[in-house]
Amino acid sequence: MQLGFNLHVRLTTACNADCSYCSCDSDIPSDRMSITDLKKSINFALSNFLKRSNPKDYCSAEVIGGEVMILPTSYLKEAVNTIRSVVGNKIKHVDVGCQSNLIGSEKKINALKEIIDDYSIGTSIDSFTSKRTIKGDANKYRRLAAQGANYLSKISGDTIGTVIVCDKDNIVKIVDEYRIAQKDQRRITIRPVFTGKHSIDYLEPKLLGKYWRELINLWFIDGDIVIEPLMRMTKSMLGMRSEVIGCPYWRSCSANSLDIEPNGDIYICQEMADAGVGKIGNAIEGQWDDDMFLQLSKRRINIDQECQECQWYRYCQGGCMMESATESGSFYSKPENCTAWKIIFKTIDENIAKYSKDASIKWIQNIENLDRAIVDQPKSIPVATK
Ligand code: SF4
Ligand code: SF4
Ligand code: SF4
Repeated sequence: MQLGFNLHVRLTTACNADCSYCSCDSDIPSDRMSITDLKKSINFALSNFLKRSNPKDYCSAEVIGGEVMILPTSYLKEAVNTIRSVVGNKIKHVDVGCQSNLIGSEKKINALKEIIDDYSIGTSIDSFTSKRTIKGDANKYRRLAAQGANYLSKISGDTIGTVIVCDKDNIVKIVDEYRIAQKDQRRITIRPVFTGKHSIDYLEPKLLGKYWRELINLWFIDGDIVIEPLMRMTKSMLGMRSEVIGCPYWRSCSANSLDIEPNGDIYICQEMADAGVGKIGNAIEGQWDDDMFLQLSKRRINIDQECQECQWYRYCQGGCMMESATESGSFYSKPENCTAWKIIFKTIDENIAKYSKDASIKWIQNIENLDRAIVDQPKSIPVATK
């Protein structure tokens, strides 16, 4: 079995859009990292990280923004080649993916496809509300993002997986988003909104649980697309996964995930960076904070008592450390989304009982056989995305 880890490299936080709930500093004009700093940063951060974690032989790297499409193609190509070679010197196998809003010319999208590994470009969607915008215009965002995704789909021969960020307004449309994705045969990842660098319309965990319950009951046994993190949760509960890892249920993420910001700051993940909690150092300045890394690593064992006694702990692992830290100031507390996670695990459990374990396993296997990203590139570790 390959022992992998995630590496997020944020090349810039600047963006060509202005989504209201954006978690990063997307409204700054430009802060892209130079190639020299990039090389130095990956070398420094990776050496320190690998020294302190168990041996790894696979790296799932991802270049993120802001928006990577606003970067000059020659720079993006050099940055990705740098990641491949610097990481490749330390790790046997490295894949490079990216998150993009796909708002850009066909020429840019062609270049992105050339630079990034197959099936590794993901995008985001909001079909109903006005949170994703270009200069405040939601229709313009929808039109240009759909145009970009359709074009990438045409040249790659595959549908493009999309992230749906849920806040209090669009959660009520989550079932409709699923129906559209099911029709398009497109995988989706659902993420509750969180407060980063911009204000949000907070989503009550109870409301999240309510709508996810509706979604699970609709998807279960009849759906044939991947919905994350539901797919992963269901597989874990069916005993189809030996390792229960991936956001947002991951008590050992400090040993399996690393994020480098454009200014060289090092965090566990982009979410921790956006929330401004748990900074581990600065790679350009050659600083690594061992005390902080130890504090983050302790979440593996030092977790809320209620979580340790919870019937879903094996799968949930106490949820996400970024949520704990922003809500309570402690890396080890039970996050507020616990209310939603309990509803979700219970609903999956009820559906397995209703349709039987064997039928549920066959259904999951069928979805996996239909999903080319899983069939052709099964190694990626599921991460949170914007
Ligand atoms: S959410 Fe993504 S696309 Fe929207 S402004 Fe932020 S970085 Fe840009
Ligand atoms: S469901 Fe709640 S109590 Fe149970 S492990 Fe998750 S966060 Fe903890
Ligand atoms: S989003 Fe949460 S679970 Fe995922 S790596 Fe970050 S802190 Fe860990």
